[in-house]
Amino acid sequence: MSKPRSFEFHCYACGLACPVSKQLHCPVCGVPLALRALNTMPADALHAPPASMWHYLPLLPIPAPEAVVSLGEGGTTLLNAPRLAGRFRLEALHIKNEMGNPTGSFKDRQLSVAISHARACGHTTVAAVSSGNVAVATAAYAARAGLRAFLFMHGQAGAGKIAQAAAYGAHVICVDSPRPSEVFALCIKACETFGWAHVSTAGMYDPYNVEGSKTIAYELFQQYNGTLPEWILAPVGGGGLLGGLWRGLLDLQRMGHINQLPRLVGVQASGCAPLTQAIDRHWSFQESLQHPWEHPETIAGGIADDILFDGHTVLPAIRTTNGAAFAVDDPAIRQGVTTLAHTEGLFCETTSAVVIAALETHAERFRGQQVCCIVTGNGMKDLAGGSSPEIAAPPHIPADMQALETLLDTLR
Ligand SMILES: [Zn+2]
Repeated sequence: MSKPRSFEFHCYACGLACPVSKQLHCPVCGVPLALRALNTMPADALHAPPASMWHYLPLLPIPAPEAVVSLGEGGTTLLNAPRLAGRFRLEALHIKNEMGNPTGSFKDRQLSVAISHARACGHTTVAAVSSGNVAVATAAYAARAGLRAFLFMHGQAGAGKIAQAAAYGAHVICVDSPRPSEVFALCIKACETFGWAHVSTAGMYDPYNVEGSKTIAYELFQQYNGTLPEWILAPVGGGGLLGGLWRGLLDLQRMGHINQLPRLVGVQASGCAPLTQAIDRHWSFQESLQHPWEHPETIAGGIADDILFDGHTVLPAIRTTNGAAFAVDDPAIRQGVTTLAHTEGLFCETTSAVVIAALETHAERFRGQQVCCIVTGNGMKDLAGGSSPEIAAPPHIPADMQALETLLDTLR
């Protein structure tokens, strides 16, 4: 496939811009390069509701519509959450519901780009490292494209997601290591050895597929009618979601659609928090890589990345928008799942619930302000994994009115 002409490589550490090439690191400072769109979207295109994220094709690194492998990802709803806003005393709270994607998580945006790119480059086999959602999305989009997929699932993977990935016909390999960076090393070596396309969602290894998460920014701009909220909160594992969202906001600023960016907040689990560690200690991306999180341990396995695979974008995303990085503990995460489900009717996975936990534990920070939370994945994906909140077993009664009335007396 020809290289996308309407993109350049950009280094967010030193500001260097250079043509897209196979050299993925900045020749000046060595930091991974990210793609930057040079195209613009006309204002009328940004006012038509997106049927899918491919509405924004001119800003994505796939050259033609016929190269796109799609299951209808993106175009997810932005839900007003007034009851939760009242609980946290916010002026307004909206939920960007990424659970509405085809396999139930925002990763579909990234894998739609990744599999489109891999197929257009002539690959017949793809491989990815994952705790769950990337594996599921890779399996689904590879099936859609007729490609073979090998999925390296590490120690954070839940049983439900392993089963979902296997259901699409992919080759699932469980690698007995709790540290994603070790599993990445194995997967990358396998891709080099066997000529597979590496489609893990880690911008430091592949600048293409993280482009998919940019489209959340474009959709929010439309859904907020051009007036974005003061804060956007997102879960952070490797950082590709928030880093991509930031770059999408920068695109909107470059095109003259917004003047000021929202303040971006990354939330991790306190059992694996390399982001808060890097922000608190004022580390550069390269310094953060020298301090991987030694023993990831949290129920939010989907974000238990021991290093910031997209630290080159997520760190400046938070620093340049005067944002914040929070870490929340497992009891707060479980409570976040319950709060969102009971209050707004949205059952998310633990990985997503960190943003609700952050609102609860840092309520003063956001009081009286406008907040958007990105809810990234569906709670039904891993009911068997033991990471969901404790859900009480329902009572059993005979088909008898007296028995029902006796039961109802206990509920009053
Ligand atoms: Zn540089």
